[in-house]
Amino acid sequence: MATPGDLEDSRLQQLLIQQLQSFHRAGVRQLPRAAIFPSAVPPGKPDHPPATSLSPVPEMRPTPSPENALEELELLRQQVTACTLCEDLAASRTQTVFGVGNPHARLCFFGEAPGRDEDRLGEPFVGRAGKLLTDIIHKGMQLQREDVYILNVLKCRPPGNRNPSPTEANCCRPFFERQLEIIQPEFICCLGTVATQNLLQTRESIGRLRGTVHTWQGIKVIATYHPAYLLRNPAAKKDTWEDIQLLMREMENTAGDTV
Ligand code: SF4
Repeated sequence: MATPGDLEDSRLQQLLIQQLQSFHRAGVRQLPRAAIFPSAVPPGKPDHPPATSLSPVPEMRPTPSPENALEELELLRQQVTACTLCEDLAASRTQTVFGVGNPHARLCFFGEAPGRDEDRLGEPFVGRAGKLLTDIIHKGMQLQREDVYILNVLKCRPPGNRNPSPTEANCCRPFFERQLEIIQPEFICCLGTVATQNLLQTRESIGRLRGTVHTWQGIKVIATYHPAYLLRNPAAKKDTWEDIQLLMREMENTAGDTV
């Protein structure tokens, strides 16, 4: 049975999470240690790590401009590589899988998490499902993989390819949000339930979310099935093709000078 002390701890934890979420919405990506754990800073010591150290959460940096997207992505990649926030994932991963593609892409494909092949090679969507995604991009949309940007909710492989836990997805959220903030795409195509629900912060099923245009942070979002699902259920390819056609129509209707 929970004691009053347990309940108080749980309430405090909830308040702390709410406070951090509100900082995050305001664009704050790093807090001085003293702001969170005042007693952890010995008198006379600096309250923040040296500028060269890597933080497990994206550092507070100015809103990126397109000119330095490559550099900002590289800085973020270094933080992801050093991240051990999800202890189990950090211990079992071969490497982190950051993302790949055009740093100025109009379109980002947003998936769930690295699988075995991605964990081995360090690139998202490189297994069988990745080949199907490449076909969608290349044969379906007449684009190259290098024209778009591909990233996942999680940067580390969940063992056994299980779904990311809500805690893991929340831990990794600042990384993918910052990635998207740097790239500034006009469109995001969410692949599957996990990616769509995490981006849009909803519990609606993919069946209800697909087929319409959503908006996240001013970016148009289209949801469709994950390529791994299509491999298991080829009949759903027809629905995905409809979603991709919707995406293509939206892209054609919106002026843009880069792919
Ligand atoms: S999944 Fe994301 S938050 Fe968790 S350890 Fe990997 S990089 Fe860090």
